[in-house]
Amino acid sequence: MKARPPHTPPSNLPFDTERLRAQDRHWIHPWENLKTIDTIERTIIAQAEGIYVYDSDGNKLIDGPGGMWCVNIGHGNGEIADAVAEQIRRMSYFSPWSLSNPPAAELSEKLAELAPGDLNHVFFTTGGSTAVDSALRFVMYLNNCLGRPEKKHIISRQDAYHGGTYLSASCSGKVRDKIHLDFETGFIHHLPSPNPYRRPEGMSVEDFCDAKVADLENKILELGADKVAAFIAEPILASGGVIVPPPGYHAKCLEVCRKYDVLTIADEVVTAFGRLGHFFASEAVFGVVPDIITVAKGITSAYVPLGAILISDRLIEQLRGEQAENGYFASGFTYSGHPVACAAALKNIEIMERDKILEHVREVGPYFQERLRSLAEIPVVGEVRGMGLMGCVECVIGRDSKDPLVLDYEIGARIDRHCQALGLIVRPLINMCVMSPPLIITRSQIDDLVAILRTGIERAMEEVRQEGLWDG
Ligand code: PLP
Repeated sequence: MKARPPHTPPSNLPFDTERLRAQDRHWIHPWENLKTIDTIERTIIAQAEGIYVYDSDGNKLIDGPGGMWCVNIGHGNGEIADAVAEQIRRMSYFSPWSLSNPPAAELSEKLAELAPGDLNHVFFTTGGSTAVDSALRFVMYLNNCLGRPEKKHIISRQDAYHGGTYLSASCSGKVRDKIHLDFETGFIHHLPSPNPYRRPEGMSVEDFCDAKVADLENKILELGADKVAAFIAEPILASGGVIVPPPGYHAKCLEVCRKYDVLTIADEVVTAFGRLGHFFASEAVFGVVPDIITVAKGITSAYVPLGAILISDRLIEQLRGEQAENGYFASGFTYSGHPVACAAALKNIEIMERDKILEHVREVGPYFQERLRSLAEIPVVGEVRGMGLMGCVECVIGRDSKDPLVLDYEIGARIDRHCQALGLIVRPLINMCVMSPPLIITRSQIDDLVAILRTGIERAMEEVRQEGLWDG
């Protein structure tokens, strides 16, 4: 990986944090607990460069989650800033309906070139949720056009996360997120999680894999193959806690889907654009070419919002031409193919290729995993898992019972608090801490990250011990 060009971000640190916090109370954040909206004291991130961010008081912290698994080439890249500014000056926006624009046209060709197999068609969206939503609507459209309107059921999995719109959220399978909202349950179904860590006592990983593939086949048979439209799956269940399904799982699931004419949607919103060392993980890492891939986040390294779905020629072939019986795919967004977002994506991809960032991830990824796994010796840690530059440390009350620290439901948040004081932002998920740092992270920065995380976990562990919540 080449060194990044020097870039000095404008600085107006420190801010008046108290004033900002008071202003911030008007903002209903994602997953906000409205009971505590008047009292919550968030860290305010005001500036960022490389793998580091600065809070409004001027404290420097390592960006452990890479924003939200999305700041792939790192913060404060001047080349992307220039590309975005140039595009805004040239033409900031025009309608994507009956017209096109150069960055979107160029990016769609580039994505088709990078995508696996025959996924040569691109439908632009505004982010990951709208990508998943659009993929599901495309599948419905396809089956309606092909004269099989009853083929509508979607199979997803527990622990999956697919987004915050009604359809994508309905496909998500995180139990805690389902408590106070309504979801589509008529045609969306969830299989048990393919989490090998929580497989039944005494079962081998191979048998567990076969059992999870059998879950899929049985669900298709139960619903009727003529009624099942698609199976949607993240290659690695990211927000569910970086769950890496057992080896061979994706290939076997694809086989089952092909057998019953069920489409496969790979939700690569997190795994695409380098997190596992490849532009797309489906084929390069898991050996499968799905029918549809959804992407967002790393496509622009989060400099501006953009999402897309990639659709195979095989599907488009069934819809195009004189003999096709269909009409419009009446779906899309004002900002589909937004020229500024597409210009950012093109520059982002150019930088990744030029600076060999994917090669860098393939080189440091194993080191990151090895260092992170050294935390498994801490008594409160049940498992450390991950792949590439995605990792998760899961805390449990007892290593044998594998109980999450239910007495202290928010152990992840405690660890995050201690880590922030030490200079690291953690993404806490109940009893887990997930890590997905910017892809440009170096070995010595990985050492710093893991050292702080170790101390943060140890301090949180000591705290719950002293509070009598854990006696490990
Ligand atoms: N799909 C996956 C796998 C995700 O992790 C996310 C977000 O974290 C989404 C979809 C939704 O993306 P967005 O938040 O950009 O709408």
